[in-house]
Amino acid sequence: MNRENSLHVEKVVKETIKNYSLFGNEDRIIVALSGGKDSTSVAYILKKLGYNVFGLYIDLNIKGYSERCLNAVRIFCEKQKIELNVYDMKNDFGCSMCYLRTNVQEKVKVNNCAVCGVVKKWILNKKARELKADKIVTGHNLDDETQTALMNFFKGNPDLSINSLPITGIVKNRMFVPRIKPLFFVDENKVREYSKLKNLDVVYERCPCAGDSYRIKTRRFVNSLTEKQKLNIIKNNIKIIEKRRKNIEKKQLKYCKVCSEPSRNSICRRCEYLGKAF
Ligand code: AMP
Ligand code: ZN
Repeated sequence: MNRENSLHVEKVVKETIKNYSLFGNEDRIIVALSGGKDSTSVAYILKKLGYNVFGLYIDLNIKGYSERCLNAVRIFCEKQKIELNVYDMKNDFGCSMCYLRTNVQEKVKVNNCAVCGVVKKWILNKKARELKADKIVTGHNLDDETQTALMNFFKGNPDLSINSLPITGIVKNRMFVPRIKPLFFVDENKVREYSKLKNLDVVYERCPCAGDSYRIKTRRFVNSLTEKQKLNIIKNNIKIIEKRRKNIEKKQLKYCKVCSEPSRNSICRRCEYLGKAF
């Protein structure tokens, strides 16, 4: 990637921030740092643009992999002078990701990434509130969003894509910290090249637990699309979401009976899984 292309990535991020009013000047922004190319690049760009960023790494206790990721995140944050918070999932879950997943899967049919996603979202929202963050940033890119939108269409449930916007959080509530995806319109290959060009400390290997065969199949298909086709899918999806959001917003927000965190049902997924695991 040449300098021109790296400027392109930064330009798209700046435009997304502007067009969707993603941040205020005073915002305390927590970047969910996984150690991968996407979240590391987005933290690097936001810091470069002068935003008030700090990092949060969730230690999922995945043998070997979690240590390698944490090591990369530590080095990156030290070089970029970004304050890093490390949070061990055992604090709130009493077990590792592998333990939780294996036990939950003995009772319900759910794939690895779905269990992990629930855990990460729950921790991110709770920690962001505790750390008084105004916004949570994740590294989701154009390819991730295209995959999610297509998977939900294939399942016949486009409402599941309701958060496929650069800023999520259909319900305005002080218990919910809005989640932001500044790389929403940036092609995954470009993010990879960007991270290499900037020599960022990144773990390029995939998570060893990532075994959602449906997503793998969809990813293969998305890989065969051009950047323009992916952008078309995502932009049309945004139009659909904006229309459907109005109805969904009317639904009342509930709080989990067990942990008191915001939830779609009377017991949140995190607590449902924990109940099955122990
Ligand atoms: P994934 O769910 O693995 O596709 O990751 C999506 C986004 O979630 C990443 O770009 C990160 O911003 C965030 N994320 C994933 N894993 C972690 C982690 N262990 N700690 C903090 N944030 C994470
Ligand atoms: Zn709960």
